[in-house]
Amino acid sequence: RPSAADVVVIGAGAAGMMCAIEAGRRGRRVVLIDHARAPGEKIRISGGGRCNFTNLDAAPRNYLSANAGFCISALKRFTQHDFVRRVEARGIAYHEKTLGQLFCDGSSRQIVDMLTDELRAAGAELKLSTSVTGYERTGDGFTLATTEGALTCRSLVIATGGKSIPKMGATGFGYEVAERFGLKVQSTRPGLVPLTLDPALLERLAPLAGVGVEARLRHGKTRFDEGLLFTHRGLSGPAVLQISSYWREGDEIEVALAPSKDVFTHLRTARAANGRQAPATVLAGLLPKRLAQMIADREAGARNLADLSDKVLQRIDGAVNGWKLKPTGSEGYRTAEVTLGGVDTDGLDSRTMQARDVPGLYFIGEVVDVTGWLGGYNFQWAWSSGWVAGQCA
Ligand code: FAD
Repeated sequence: RPSAADVVVIGAGAAGMMCAIEAGRRGRRVVLIDHARAPGEKIRISGGGRCNFTNLDAAPRNYLSANAGFCISALKRFTQHDFVRRVEARGIAYHEKTLGQLFCDGSSRQIVDMLTDELRAAGAELKLSTSVTGYERTGDGFTLATTEGALTCRSLVIATGGKSIPKMGATGFGYEVAERFGLKVQSTRPGLVPLTLDPALLERLAPLAGVGVEARLRHGKTRFDEGLLFTHRGLSGPAVLQISSYWREGDEIEVALAPSKDVFTHLRTARAANGRQAPATVLAGLLPKRLAQMIADREAGARNLADLSDKVLQRIDGAVNGWKLKPTGSEGYRTAEVTLGGVDTDGLDSRTMQARDVPGLYFIGEVVDVTGWLGGYNFQWAWSSGWVAGQCA
């Protein structure tokens, strides 16, 4: 005989754990299933081991979705401040790193431990190393076949995340479930991912591998002022990851490497003061040295400032703050922090995350077509969407 639960949640990540805790607190019999050996593995590795667990400024404008308004309700009902209160009640020390990003002072394991303790206290059963081998609608509920036996439930919550980092057990399971039950899925692609360059450019930039700079990246009307990092594979760093979620094959990105500086005026003033200086020396006051040297070599050769016309100074300015770049691709799901696209929100009720046409079926977290910026926004979506489903499932 299958064992009976009120709620089965598949995926013990950020969203699934939050949902299971909330449903358990309401007195529902909850079973939380994951094929991994440990819960919350992405939480554990997140934020360089310190988990950027939310963002003080989280708001709908920080999310990409085919339906920009879908996330409003969940983000309003369970806010970043609600999550911070839990972290504080638990006594986890944290700090704001930059741009509203909250990190643990100690370790991301503290967040995983908090959630697993809350799960236990809420009476939810956690079944790890368990795979779902079949599922179907039966009566007004669901029957699941798993490697640990059959299960029935009234509510089935899909919290299996996106496709990023397949090495860690990411699967397309959630999208398959959605399609099987007639929900649409917005096409998926890697987001928050380093971008790659054509081989000739990559070779030219090779000496810059490891150099970082505070840059401004623009794609259409979208702009991010954050760090850019040259790597031996292409470009990375927060600004690049952010813009990668907006970038599509063939698109151009505009890069300013010293966005707050008027490079032309700076060079002209330096030329007037001391024309015998090398342009690289002046640029090194605005840019990391290796980057300054490369731009100066390319635009001015071995000439001193006195030998450079305004036109050349303007060209240098353009090379620094008007770099038009066409990435060739991204590093893909192997290193992407998130998956863009996913279960189409048209098929879901934004107040509960329940499928409109399949009562009792819920989708939460990253599997849904809601993707946050870099900076704690993705976990906040997982907490918020998991929380609202947990009030209803
Ligand atoms: P997940 O956390 O991915 O959980 C899904 C769970 O489902 C997993 O435990 C998985 O094992 C399980 N699962 C999958 N398929 C199946 C299946 N078929 N059967 C059973 N179980 C299954 N976001 C931030 O906000 N801040 C950060 O600091 C941050 N850092 C990150 C660093 C890295 C390296 C990566 C990859 C991501 C980071 N993110 C960060 C993004 C964040 O981790 C995700 O957005 C978030 O984990 C999504 O939560 P989720 O619960 O929807 O999915």
